[in-house]
Amino acid sequence: MGISSKSFSKKPVREESALTATLRRIDIRFPWLKIVGVVVLGLIVIMDLFGLTISRIGDPGDKISIAPMARHVKITERVLEGKKLVALTFDDGPSAETTPVLLNTLRERDVPATFFMLGSRARNNPDIVKKVKEEGHEVASHTMYHQNLIRIPASAAAADIDEAKGILKSILGQDVSLTRTPYGNVNDTVRGFVGTPIILWSVDTLDWKIKNTDSIVGITMSEVSDGAIILMHDIHPTSVEAVPRLVDTLRDAGYEFVTVSEMAEMHGIKLANGVSYYSL
Ligand SMILES: [Zn+2]
Repeated sequence: MGISSKSFSKKPVREESALTATLRRIDIRFPWLKIVGVVVLGLIVIMDLFGLTISRIGDPGDKISIAPMARHVKITERVLEGKKLVALTFDDGPSAETTPVLLNTLRERDVPATFFMLGSRARNNPDIVKKVKEEGHEVASHTMYHQNLIRIPASAAAADIDEAKGILKSILGQDVSLTRTPYGNVNDTVRGFVGTPIILWSVDTLDWKIKNTDSIVGITMSEVSDGAIILMHDIHPTSVEAVPRLVDTLRDAGYEFVTVSEMAEMHGIKLANGVSYYSL
């Protein structure tokens, strides 16, 4: 104790005097430096107040401009810088049994996801739909009744898409901006009237079929890459159970999570209506 306090008390004094002497020399030779220093410091403080970071100055890409989400305050541009990005997507819900469990997991791990909901299920679970949105996730359409849109008359397909959009808008108070067509099936007719970008996937976990955590994690890790869109279904307990390990494993491999719209924004991709996207 005595030794360490001695060595600590000596060191700063020596450094301070050397520093003071240096500063005095600089002050004599460059008296204007003090004013420049004050101005620079002032600018840094002002930029900090407006949420800008020093690392962003002169960033030529400047594609990292996402405001932090309401709940996921830790998922900010600063955390995402230098990370590979993935979008977890959950189809066919919401389910009163499994979706709330998934929301807990995502909240605990501070992971935003994108939910492609069926209008028919959303209508029966409006509070869950609202909660998904409120917790910082993206809510999108998976149509009304999960029909194979390229096998039914165009008028029926258009009606199905419109009905789902209407239900989700009535619950959320705003239009959904993305659609995932059931089974990923889409043709030119559907592209013509879907009215949003069509978001498909690059990693099919086959969670609905295999219903096994090891398999979900294994398939994902062998197929994932920066910009991947991972397909899962929040109506199966096994899929929801797989999420904690999936998230941790992806993070260990240098990935961070964003919603589909955020990933497009961060990767500088302008999504267009009627166009299919498999990764971003
Ligand atoms: Zn589906």
